[in-house]
Amino acid sequence: MTLPPLPIRTRAYDGEGVDSYAHRAAARNYTTVKDTEDWLRRLGVLHGKDRRDPARKQAWRQLGALHDTAFTAPDILGGDWVTERELCHRCAPTVAYTTFLPRPRPEDAPDTWKADMTTEPPTVDHLSAPARGRLPGVGRVCLRHRRWIDGPQVDVTGRRDILRAERRYRQVLAPRHVLFDSPVMREAAQVAAVSADPSRVADLQQTTSVPMSAVLYPEQVAFALLMGSPAFLRMVGRTGPRPDLVTLIDTVIEQTVPVTADAQPYRARSRLLAFANGLDRIVWNARAKDAEPDDGAYNVLRLLDESD
Ligand SMILES: [Zn+2]
Repeated sequence: MTLPPLPIRTRAYDGEGVDSYAHRAAARNYTTVKDTEDWLRRLGVLHGKDRRDPARKQAWRQLGALHDTAFTAPDILGGDWVTERELCHRCAPTVAYTTFLPRPRPEDAPDTWKADMTTEPPTVDHLSAPARGRLPGVGRVCLRHRRWIDGPQVDVTGRRDILRAERRYRQVLAPRHVLFDSPVMREAAQVAAVSADPSRVADLQQTTSVPMSAVLYPEQVAFALLMGSPAFLRMVGRTGPRPDLVTLIDTVIEQTVPVTADAQPYRARSRLLAFANGLDRIVWNARAKDAEPDDGAYNVLRLLDESD
């Protein structure tokens, strides 16, 4: 059955999920998701309350007169969940909507309301919650609006290093399905944090009011690029001394960690070596059992297979 669109059209933002869209579309049409979906169940369009039911997505596509590609962002990419998160507040502004308060029965209405009861019902104005969705090709920055979008959203115009890092992320890591919060990116954020000069980070935060994670984003992306690079992964699982691995790590650290009085590049080196050693153990154990290495916790060895 084809449903007629709701009277007030609501466009879906790029990557927006069905929950977020349904909330906004229902609110703009003076109803709620619950009431709309109860009606869909009475019509026999929906049969249960499973929010992941494909019929639910299809129903909201029809109610919004949306394209078939709406709500089709993948749940899993490269073996990792694609996390739903708040979209850039400039790309997806909140919408204002109004709800009507139930009219009190005449005998219960306070005197001040009685005069109104012949005219309009009382209303309340709201702002919708920020739209949420999945954009696996985007790291932690909206390049269109030059905004940090992970956590408190702030303007990063003028922070060319952060914008450059986002471009690198989108060029190299996103196409290989290294998601903004995948294990490699999380580990890279830790490497960036342990090696940073605390006073430099504090100064930057104070002068630019961007969060610490944004200040360290250029380092995070550089270390994620290293950890996911074929050059790095090819050395994993080798036995004997690996001076070339240490040289590779040191070169990236030298290019990445700004040279300041309190910078701690040696901590980045030991953390990266520990990461390589963790992978070594997985590869060696698999070899001993003549099995495929399972690095689910890191999910990075797949990048070597894909680059061959
Ligand atoms: Zn934006």
